[in-house]
Amino acid sequence: MDVERVATALRSMEVGEVKTGEPLSRHTSFRIGGPAAVFVDPKHLDGIVAVLDWVRDEHLPYFIIGQGTNILVSDQGVDAVVISTSRGLKDAEVTPPTIRAGSGVLLTKLCRLAEKAGLAGLEFAISIPGTLGGALVMNAGAHGGAMVEVVESVLVWDAISGVRRISGDEAQFQYRQSRFMHNPWIALEATLRLEPGDPAEIRAKMQHNMEYRKRSQPVGEPNAGSIFKNPLPHYAGQLIQNIGAKGWREGDAMVSELHANFIVNAGQATAHDVLGLMRRIRRRVYQETGVVLRPEVRWIGPGEGGADATWENLWYAEDDGLREP
Ligand SMILES: Cc1cc2nc3c(=O)[nH]c(=O)nc-3n(C[C@H](O)[C@H](O)[C@H](O)COP(=O)(O)OP(=O)(O)OC[C@H]3O[C@@H](n4cnc5c(N)ncnc54)[C@H](O)[C@@H]3O)c2cc1C
Repeated sequence: MDVERVATALRSMEVGEVKTGEPLSRHTSFRIGGPAAVFVDPKHLDGIVAVLDWVRDEHLPYFIIGQGTNILVSDQGVDAVVISTSRGLKDAEVTPPTIRAGSGVLLTKLCRLAEKAGLAGLEFAISIPGTLGGALVMNAGAHGGAMVEVVESVLVWDAISGVRRISGDEAQFQYRQSRFMHNPWIALEATLRLEPGDPAEIRAKMQHNMEYRKRSQPVGEPNAGSIFKNPLPHYAGQLIQNIGAKGWREGDAMVSELHANFIVNAGQATAHDVLGLMRRIRRRVYQETGVVLRPEVRWIGPGEGGADATWENLWYAEDDGLREP
């Protein structure tokens, strides 16, 4: 990519700050990640749409980042235009029993708005860090609830047909999955449908969920939430704990002593360290139980396994014998 040409063109659009070589470690909860070739932080919805239209027309690789709480970014960084939603898509409007919000709004903020308006249904989300956009893509969930239950519609930028509204059903939410992962769609805003509830009860449920989280997860250390999906009916954390992996280290990446499905950055961990630890865990769990763990965290970057690495070719590069079926 001709970085200077791209940055100059984006700056001339005057949609927000444009940086080159911005370390993505500043934008991820893992505090890991090399530089973005170009990083742009549009201030409003029209600006994001203008940037997206332009990168599409120029056939440039691009990537949307919310709060970076569910991604592992390559140490080499990404040769792409990284577009942040965390500045521009921040509006939220409560019209009981719905809330319409930009995809850059923090999930915790939405929960507080719901609580204040006496709207129930989002209590599960109170301690999930990240933006509404990230939560839609991941169908984020906890405490038995998930986004699928509350999403009425999403305003998307579709690389093929432009800005349009899709229904929650069209997003095809499944366990930590959605159509956003397989389509050239960017979530711009969403309408959530909640139910009238008792504010005191809503608050109590949220408080309970937050306390549970503090007791059971390493919230004070840099991490990216659950590393592997639960291979139902098993729980990834239980399988990893059973192989005795708590405290395992590769460099400064360490399996949390509090919750075995969390890898924490105990200092200067690199993506290379985290990948090494994930491979080790995955291999041992497979050897001992026959269960193949699949990552929940999303890999961003060319990878150590070659260009356009997905998790699968990262594993293949190591040839750990655990090919995806
Ligand atoms: C301590 C901790 C606890 C966690 N607990 C949970 C939990 O209980 N349950 C759970 O589900 N998750 C959990 N997570 C993971 C994470 O918080 C969620 O997946 C969250 O919804 C991700 O939001 P984000 O803004 O950080 O997304 P990012 O990490 O920035 O992005 C995630 C993916 O979504 C894409 N994306 C982001 N925004 C958009 C958009 N607007 N349009 C299209 N694509 C977009 C990105 O390209 C990327 O592929 C936890 C993470 C941490 C650090």
